Amino acid sequence: MNITETIKTTCPYCGVGCGVDAKIQQGNLIAVSGSTEHPANQGRLCVKGSALHETVSHQGRMLSPSIAGQTVDWNTAYSHIAEKLADIIAQHGPDAVAMYVSGQILTEDYYVANKLMKGFIGTSNIDTNSRLCMSSAVAAHKRAFGSDTVPGCYEDLELADLVIITGSNLAWAHPIVYQRLAKAKAERPDMKIVVIDPRKTASCDIADLHLPLKPGSDGFLFNGLAHYLIAHQKLDRQFIEQHCEGFDALSESVQQQTLAQTAIDCDVPEAALNTLYQWFAEYEHSVTLFSQGINQSSSGVDKGNAIINCHLITGKIGKPGATPFSITGQPNAMGGREVGGLANQLAAHLELKNPESLDKVRRFWDAPNMVHKEGLKAVDMFNAVDSGQIKAIWIIATNPVVSMPDADKIKQALTKCDLVIVSDSSDSTDTLPFADVCLPATTWGEKDGTVTNSDRTISRQRGFIAPPGEAQNDWKIICEVAKRMGFEEAFDFTGSADIFREHAALSGFENPEANGKSERDFDISGLTSLTDLEYQTLEPIQWPVNQTYPQGRKRFFDDGHFYTPTNKANLISITPRLPTYAADCDQLILNTGRIRDQWHTMTRTGKAHRLLEHIATPYVEIHPHTAEKFDIKNNSLVSLKDRNIEYIARTKVTDTQRKDSLFVPMHWSDAFASHARANSLVRPIQDALSGQPEFKHSPVTISPL
Ligand code: SF4
Repeated sequence: MNITETIKTTCPYCGVGCGVDAKIQQGNLIAVSGSTEHPANQGRLCVKGSALHETVSHQGRMLSPSIAGQTVDWNTAYSHIAEKLADIIAQHGPDAVAMYVSGQILTEDYYVANKLMKGFIGTSNIDTNSRLCMSSAVAAHKRAFGSDTVPGCYEDLELADLVIITGSNLAWAHPIVYQRLAKAKAERPDMKIVVIDPRKTASCDIADLHLPLKPGSDGFLFNGLAHYLIAHQKLDRQFIEQHCEGFDALSESVQQQTLAQTAIDCDVPEAALNTLYQWFAEYEHSVTLFSQGINQSSSGVDKGNAIINCHLITGKIGKPGATPFSITGQPNAMGGREVGGLANQLAAHLELKNPESLDKVRRFWDAPNMVHKEGLKAVDMFNAVDSGQIKAIWIIATNPVVSMPDADKIKQALTKCDLVIVSDSSDSTDTLPFADVCLPATTWGEKDGTVTNSDRTISRQRGFIAPPGEAQNDWKIICEVAKRMGFEEAFDFTGSADIFREHAALSGFENPEANGKSERDFDISGLTSLTDLEYQTLEPIQWPVNQTYPQGRKRFFDDGHFYTPTNKANLISITPRLPTYAADCDQLILNTGRIRDQWHTMTRTGKAHRLLEHIATPYVEIHPHTAEKFDIKNNSLVSLKDRNIEYIARTKVTDTQRKDSLFVPMHWSDAFASHARANSLVRPIQDALSGQPEFKHSPVTISPL
């Protein structure tokens, strides 16, 4: 084989953010392998990543812009959108316009989208599918640390003596992090791994202990751990005194959460719980990795804080092998947070509620219409579309008709909306039929920019193949519309490098460094002066990147400095609670999640035949006792129902499920099978603080077909 060129890029799927070596021959991607130099994967790729070259085809791509089904040129599309948005804003105000973007887009795309909405149109109604993924962890970080900071790095998992995996099927959802952990366990068999999950997942293969807790009871479990640590004096008193606030209130709040009571609350054996608590008390090097099972809950923020509390009171933070660790679902959920791509965030980790911060960004952007209040979060945003409050929505690189909770209502809302703009690379997502304007976007392998993974590593995605038809970069589309709305100068970027430089400069704007500390955690001002060539060749680097940390920083809080007004961490006293809706006696609890070889709504992974070989059709996992109770056979068709919404799939009878629960994968849509949109069954219940929906706990009935 005559390999002509290898381009270093980053996988577009999960938040692990693996480096990919793309082998290009005569302009075609012919093979991929894991980059040995990339710190996240060190040469590895999971099944999805290693099939990337099989998903790059022009088949099924949107090739031209269109308005009301008629193909138009780009200039017509840009002008049409700009005029329509201007009309709606003139008649109804800026809050009648919304954007719903994605953790799949690049930081540069995110940056200009956020800038246009929050500084120039003048609304904070820009939210993202990352709201569904990690917004509870963001809120928990901010409450505890005063900043949305992930304290540790992947290496900590390998250095730990105890790793607790909670609310995550790491083996399937973040396979390379799991492989790194499995290797560490094989090399150091004394290392302890605990999986806390109602399901016995593939991640339990390397676990010393599995706690199949009652769905949604995590807050009780971690408050129980805090009680145990306090009762047994397994604390870092010096760290608490010097660097934490709220210890007395926390002690009081967990007083009743004894071991015996927690075992009852969580429906797990007391002895197993005691083992976990003993290990956490004993092992100085402990990591608690948490993901969607914690975040996707009506009390997700509290659960995150309950975890962080345990690390703070034992000083297990900011040290090698010791950290709470929120792992993100999407490749650029973290980058989106950096540019303020959530309705309640400002750019550069500045606070939207803080007038000084707003003024800072206004001056930096020279923004004519700076926002002054938070916008609507994803669920509320689509409710506002449904009620007519929002009259125009621009959906970029996401498929809410499949992925949002109460997904049928999203269809209803979009049908009513005056102007629906959809930017996507695919020509056949479930959301496209509701679009008035369809815009063909470039995708992985065609576009240039950066993404930030779960451990704060900024990596380049690089374009190496020509886009099909008239597909255009998202940042370019947004900037062209912005210019036609009268904002020429502010959106006159020469390319993604130019946008990145502005993003880096904003992170350092009035963010002084003193005694080795910058005022804000997110500071990549050291990358402000990158030339186009330096940007093109940028190696992966962990933020911050500034005068103090020119080569990046592995860990935060090793200096005991937090970003609260007192520079101390906040211990947050929470009152644990179960999910909003309990199951009636004839109902079961539906849990949704990812499978190993598919990604999101399968618009890319569904193209690779071998990825369908793992699991080719949607299914319902059910415990044998529960199956017998409902007269259900293995591999038989069943109907799940709630609120007259139906999901149909074949059963997998397995004792990996709890008797009170069911599991279904979240990927399939009407494009692949009818009645297979699992999220249509999910009620739109949100965490009051983060707005993250409760995907993991939907009461449903089940019946054989
Ligand atoms: Fe891609 Fe995630 Fe697999 Fe890495 S672990 S190759 S980022 S899907």
